[in-house]
Amino acid sequence: MDEKALWRLRKIVGTQYVLTSAEDLICYGYDAQHVEHRPEAVVRPENADQIAELITFANEAEIPVTPRGAGTGLSGGSVPAKGGFVLDVCRMNRILDIDRENLLATVEPGVVTADLHTAVEAVGLMYPPDPGSMKVSTIGGNVAENAGGLRAIKYGVTKDYVMALEGVSPTGEPFTAGARTMKSVSGYDLCRLMCGSEGTLGVFTKIVLKLIPLPKSRRAVLASFPALEDAAKAVSGIIGAGIMPATLEIMDNVTVRAVEDYKKLGLPVDAGAVLLFEADGAAAQVEEEASEAISVMKEHGASSIQVASDAEERDKLWEGRRASLAALARVRPTTVLEDATVPRSALAEMVRAVNAIAAKYSLMIGTFGHAGDGNLHPTILTDERDADEMARVEKAVEEIFDAALRLGGTVSGEHGIGFSKARFLPLEMGEGAMNMMRAVKSALDPKGILNPGKVFE
Ligand SMILES: Cc1cc2nc3c(=O)[nH]c(=O)nc-3n(C[C@H](O)[C@H](O)[C@H](O)COP(=O)(O)OP(=O)(O)OC[C@H]3O[C@@H](n4cnc5c(N)ncnc54)[C@H](O)[C@@H]3O)c2cc1C
Repeated sequence: MDEKALWRLRKIVGTQYVLTSAEDLICYGYDAQHVEHRPEAVVRPENADQIAELITFANEAEIPVTPRGAGTGLSGGSVPAKGGFVLDVCRMNRILDIDRENLLATVEPGVVTADLHTAVEAVGLMYPPDPGSMKVSTIGGNVAENAGGLRAIKYGVTKDYVMALEGVSPTGEPFTAGARTMKSVSGYDLCRLMCGSEGTLGVFTKIVLKLIPLPKSRRAVLASFPALEDAAKAVSGIIGAGIMPATLEIMDNVTVRAVEDYKKLGLPVDAGAVLLFEADGAAAQVEEEASEAISVMKEHGASSIQVASDAEERDKLWEGRRASLAALARVRPTTVLEDATVPRSALAEMVRAVNAIAAKYSLMIGTFGHAGDGNLHPTILTDERDADEMARVEKAVEEIFDAALRLGGTVSGEHGIGFSKARFLPLEMGEGAMNMMRAVKSALDPKGILNPGKVFE
């Protein structure tokens, strides 16, 4: 971008909201995992009109635009792979309305997910999607990645809560999608198309989300198992018994030890794996579900069971689970976290495959994740300065994806394709679907301005 282009950006949003210092550009060149792709500028608009003007100008000048929320993504989505400017929406962070009669919240895209939780819970409501990053991630980023979370097993993922949205198209045209009504079949379902579009089909400027009543009671249980496979089998056992947990998470021994070392929560460091189970709903039903789940976990070899007696103990258990990635990242200089997801019945087989891959390539892998969704995060702990080890890491990643696809799964359960998984997407989708997706992208973004280099290789 030349000085004239920077002048134009400054004119649209104001000089102080166009960042060009090396320190800023370096920071915006990363997301939570990936290699640096430094932008030429960072632009921080405050409303939809400015976004429309910025994208219209980007089309005229053919400058790539990469939308960004909090940058907690794990597939490179918010990183400007092809240069140009980053469009940081975090100044647009107002909760505009909480409509208790219609159970809806209207928010700007930069609202932090946990702030929305706090606001709706204060009036007895719940917004269920709760990615592990929720204290930092934004609703716009959640919609763009169709984020899951710890409660997805019972409540579904972000797309299940997006009723309507306003946005700006890749050519700079404002649009609305969806409706505030419980039912609407008017036209194509653009809302669904936008959910999970990874910042490639539009920039969201306002989002209407569905809310539900806050459950009255919760019960959290931590069960230790001698081996990871036993824990994985217990997951299928719980689902097969007709129990519907609000959350059912897994951490293997590598993860438990890393978390304990980091957080000192008193976790069972000798366990092969732990399952974190939580039921929510009416008090009697919660107690029944928790005790049924405990029986199933014992049948599958659980060697010890810890039932959280109060909210503080419960929060401690969840703190451990939410710290998994950060804790693993302390073990070695580089973490390569994957997102392979399989049908729940294939979880034990997937776990076996990951362990075999770790042994084959002499790699340290910590596995944790949303076991109840079949969504594992095998995290390779490595060192990017070691070329030989990195070559083995690459092979291991390929084999993890192969195993997931062989078991009827998907290469990404929730972190998106970004650029890190673009080469694996055709293996899952096949030629027909890839062609349709490319046709959608080029129809909406003929110049390839919005987030180029993502989803497609
Ligand atoms: C510790 C940790 C735990 C995590 N746990 C989970 C988890 O449990 N479940 C899960 O699904 N993910 C998880 N993630 C991944 C990540 O937090 C999610 O993908 C999240 O939705 C990203 O939100 P963000 O605001 O950080 O978006 P960013 O990383 O800034 O951007 C993500 C994508 O959204 C696009 N985007 C951002 N804002 C907009 C907008 N307004 N309009 C259009 N496109 C936009 C960007 O271009 C990019 O492609 C975790 C990450 C970390 C670091």
